Amino acid sequence: MIVYGFRSRNKVLGQVAYVCPQCHKNSYHTIVRSRRWFTLFFIPLFPFTKTSTSRCNICGVQTRIHNQQAEAYFEQPQQPQVISQPAAAPAPASQPAPQYPATPNYYNTDQSARF
Ligand SMILES: [Zn+2]
Repeated sequence: MIVYGFRSRNKVLGQVAYVCPQCHKNSYHTIVRSRRWFTLFFIPLFPFTKTSTSRCNICGVQTRIHNQQAEAYFEQPQQPQVISQPAAAPAPASQPAPQYPATPNYYNTDQSARF
């Protein structure tokens, strides 16, 4: 027997202030992201719907809003990460790196070098 079903999960994205269409007051609205999950044996496996609602904090009226709009409310300004390197002084050139031979001499095949 396979037990499957659906489950909704809500997540508050944040608050946005604008004039409510119902009470006509400039109030904060709670933006809620609701996702429906397909569950198998009560374990949510994957989400298959995503809706966003806006709830007025004064009168409580809920309105559906576009997902893109809900995300645009709380989108962090995407600024390119500029890794500012401090003007580090270049490595001092007075001390050259020690020069190691590229290949050790152990494999020298020069016959005259053998004992
Ligand atoms: Zn309202």
